[in-house]
Amino acid sequence: MSAQQQGRPEVGRLEVITGPMFSGKSEELIRRLKRARIARQRVACFKPDIDLRYHRSAIASHSSQTHEAETVASVERLREALAPQLGEVEVIGIDEAQFLDEAIIPLAVELVHLGKRLLVAGLDTTFAAEPFGPIPALMALSDEVTKLSAVCMVCGAPAIHTQRLGQSQELVVVGAAGLYEARCRRCFHPWVDGFGSEQLELLPVTTEG
Ligand SMILES: [Zn+2]
Repeated sequence: MSAQQQGRPEVGRLEVITGPMFSGKSEELIRRLKRARIARQRVACFKPDIDLRYHRSAIASHSSQTHEAETVASVERLREALAPQLGEVEVIGIDEAQFLDEAIIPLAVELVHLGKRLLVAGLDTTFAAEPFGPIPALMALSDEVTKLSAVCMVCGAPAIHTQRLGQSQELVVVGAAGLYEARCRRCFHPWVDGFGSEQLELLPVTTEG
């Protein structure tokens, strides 16, 4: 007997797809959305408008898979865009969710309690290897986390970090080509260009005693 037959409300599910840049997060999100459509589920997809990569009205993976998406400027706009279609939509995808404000966290919980399947893709860490926006909290609250690794562009090992190349210290630099590389722990250097070098100085080795 299903939950609905027993008179209990259906609950949804929160799935987080995360990892560094070039790990295939958007590709995995698109794959899941396409499978939902094949299963004749109503799908809605959103992305923050900070990501201008490739398309204004679609999400795109680096391997050129696309899925149409509505661009929203904030979580408030996302809520407004979702409201009129909330009755029909069963699966909701959000790409580049690291750029959304913290209000996405209670909204995600709310949507799951309304019975929606929410698929969130985003970076788990910044180029300084710090937790990125709401993604770590969403991971904690999710039913399932898929943490993808990329391939280290220096040595070929599995990569969990996003290395920024060049001088910018802004958190958001739009357009990935040439500005970032996936790196393994060994090859990742957050202090390149002077960032964080003071935190990473080696402790002096004492030989006394
Ligand atoms: Zn490496």
